[in-house]
Formats: sequence, structure tokens, C-alpha cells
Amino acid sequence: MTTTIPIDQFCSHDVTRPELTAPIYYAGHAYATDGHIAIAVPSPGREDTPDNVYGQRMAKTIAEAHAERFKNPTAPPTDFPRVVWQPCPDCTAKGKPSAGCDWCDGSGNEATPVLRGVLCGNHRIDEYYIEMLELLPKVMWDVSFPYTAQWKDQAIPFTFTGGRGAVMGMRQP
Ligand SMILES: [Zn+2]
Repeated sequence: MTTTIPIDQFCSHDVTRPELTAPIYYAGHAYATDGHIAIAVPSPGREDTPDNVYGQRMAKTIAEAHAERFKNPTAPPTDFPRVVWQPCPDCTAKGKPSAGCDWCDGSGNEATPVLRGVLCGNHRIDEYYIEMLELLPKVMWDVSFPYTAQWKDQAIPFTFTGGRGAVMGMRQP
């Protein structure tokens, strides 16, 4: 069975973090992360990536998020102010998307400068990541845990058909 989950799209575009620009295979799962969102899908029979410290880290983060905080699953919002993407000004000036661009991480696109973040439950989530979740089938997350000193830096767990993951919220005042 082949997966239809677009796992590559969850990898980092940042060439200064080459270890995150491709899926990492660890303990029967494929992991992808850009440092703020991580997903895991079963990948039976696939050999582990030789240097999989990030795979181990993602496995732990996702497992803890689900064990501790996946209690009241709800669907992410679909009705929120959408990010308007436009060409990265820095890369446009240089003529092409530049790997390692500080501004856009080499994607060539940058969001219009709007107030970012949608309040979902007790957490503020970057619109970009809500749109990333729309790439996955039947996402449910838990944003009901409190934004307190204990929990504010903890990832928000989510599931989807064929896998699960965790996403970081934004800092709140
Ligand atoms: Zn750029």
C-alpha cells in the first residue's frame, strides 16, 4: 500500500538544516518536520535513516503530546483569515528563490505582513500551519489544554487518517 500523505511538504525548506529537508525513517515510521510541525506515518519495512536523532526526537515529542494532551479532539477551523502569499521580496530582487534565504527559507514565497495567528481553543496557531493541516485527511487536534507556564511551550497533538503529529502554537502575551 502506498501512502498518499504529502509528507515531503512537511519537511523544512531551510537548506541550512539539511537533516530536516527530507523525511526521516525511524522505527517503522516516516517523520517530517520543519521544526514547528511534525508528522509521522507508518513506513513498515523501511530501514532507519542512518543518523536519525531527529527521528527519535520527533517520535518522543509526538508520543508525549498524544499521551498527555490528546483528550478532547476537535476539527481545526476552516473559516479564518487566509494568509496571502506573495513572492519573497529578497529573492525577487536576486532573480530567483535563494536557498538559505533568511526571509522565506528558500521557498520563494512570503506571507503578507498581517497579524498572524488564529486563536483556536486556548492556543494561537499560525495560519500557515492551519493551511498545512488542510493537506492531511480528516485532521483532529486538541487545543483544549491550558496555555499556562506548564503547557505553553508544548506541542499541540493532532491525528489524521493514516498518521499523527504535533504542531507548535505561537507565543501569546
Ligand atoms: Zn527569499
